[in-house]
Amino acid sequence: MYNSLRMRDIASQIHPQTNLAAHETVGPTIMARGEGAYVYDDDGKQYIEGMSGLWCAALGMSEKRLVDAATRQLNTLPYYQNFAHRATEPAIELSERLLKIAPVPMSKVLFQSSGSEANDTAVKLAWYYFHAQGKPEKKKIIARNRGYHGTSIGSASITGLPHLHREFNLPLPGFLHVTCPHFYREGRPGETEEDFSTRLAEELDALIVAEGPDTVAAFFAEPAMGTGGVVIPPKTYFEKIQKVLKKHDVLLVADEVITGFGRTGAWWGSQTFGLEPDMITCAKALTAAYMPLSAVLLSERLYAGMKAQSEKIGVFGHGYTYGAHPVACAVGVEALRIYEEDGIIDGVAALGERMAEGMLPLAEHPLVGEVRGVGLMWGVEIVRDKRTREAFPADMQFGIGIQNRAFENGLVCRSLGTAIAFAPPLISTPEQIDAVVSRFRDALDRSLDAYLAG
Ligand code: PMP
Repeated sequence: MYNSLRMRDIASQIHPQTNLAAHETVGPTIMARGEGAYVYDDDGKQYIEGMSGLWCAALGMSEKRLVDAATRQLNTLPYYQNFAHRATEPAIELSERLLKIAPVPMSKVLFQSSGSEANDTAVKLAWYYFHAQGKPEKKKIIARNRGYHGTSIGSASITGLPHLHREFNLPLPGFLHVTCPHFYREGRPGETEEDFSTRLAEELDALIVAEGPDTVAAFFAEPAMGTGGVVIPPKTYFEKIQKVLKKHDVLLVADEVITGFGRTGAWWGSQTFGLEPDMITCAKALTAAYMPLSAVLLSERLYAGMKAQSEKIGVFGHGYTYGAHPVACAVGVEALRIYEEDGIIDGVAALGERMAEGMLPLAEHPLVGEVRGVGLMWGVEIVRDKRTREAFPADMQFGIGIQNRAFENGLVCRSLGTAIAFAPPLISTPEQIDAVVSRFRDALDRSLDAYLAG
């Protein structure tokens, strides 16, 4: 059974973000079931899901209230669309709840199914808005190196990771990238965090001026970067960046696909890091990953502009078949209820402290250059030489080795660039958080032994 499933997988599926050739020999690990913060493979081996899947299964793997919410809606109205004046109650209720908890006043919500679609939509809304303002040439998008915003043609263009671009003829023209705000890697000798932030804000200002402010529509940023290796913004960064954006009337889009719904210890990363966005994109924990759903929240200023344009030209020409899917929205409503009723967000602040107590001492480890994190998203920077901060060459796949040893220890974590990332479910117990740290520490020790043994 096990072998035949593995062979059927190799014969039939392409796995995203996977070495396709290696997969034919490595094969899949088949996950069979989940319970709370644990997943079990088809041999029955237990793992702590230290990444919440892809940063998304915030309420773990067996939240019955979400299953019941989906089942109720499936039995009532399994599908309807919201094109052309149609609506369903779950979508209405979820919109209201999102507007109520939004970190800054927001006017309307537009639903899609994935984070990539939400970011594509936000680009299109920015373009639509500036068309409405009589500025159709104001359309360039600026984002950061190592930012992650998705893999559709538009959202991959916003993403700042070369391996998502090279062979795909991306980014599209008009999508630009500035320096990643990672002080440890990008800061200069003698520079303080605040100086670094000033330099990056000046870089952004210079780029907008060089391109022409009338050609730049929006700046996309994750409040804390996830897939780029968990990058926590340096002190005063967003304060200075937002001044530049305001000066040039460039919209700020906060990509809260990972940071939304508690991951940083507040409802939104925008609250933790002081962002006042014009649009917010969110997904993942919106439904705790039990159904695919994403949303764009937009300000009254944007909505008013869009409405005026639509009034002039007719139909607002955008939308997806499964946007505002009623089953997904019903699950979203229930997830938001759980976050609120069960005090999940406050719980993250406490669990985050526990995680910090375990994680920060790892900075002493010979293989660790930096430990960084907020709430329940953490990154450990792996270095070959602590003094020079030299990373291991990419072709050594050293991070993958650590990730694999952690996996042997029953811990799912993820090698991302030169860091190892952690994002355990928000419902983890303190003991599970301790186990994340101890299983990882053991993987680090064994990786060091293997390296020293040559
Ligand atoms: N934005 C961020 C910050 C993300 O982390 C991701 C997914 N990891 C996306 C967008 C894209 O979401 P999806 O994979 O659902 O398209």
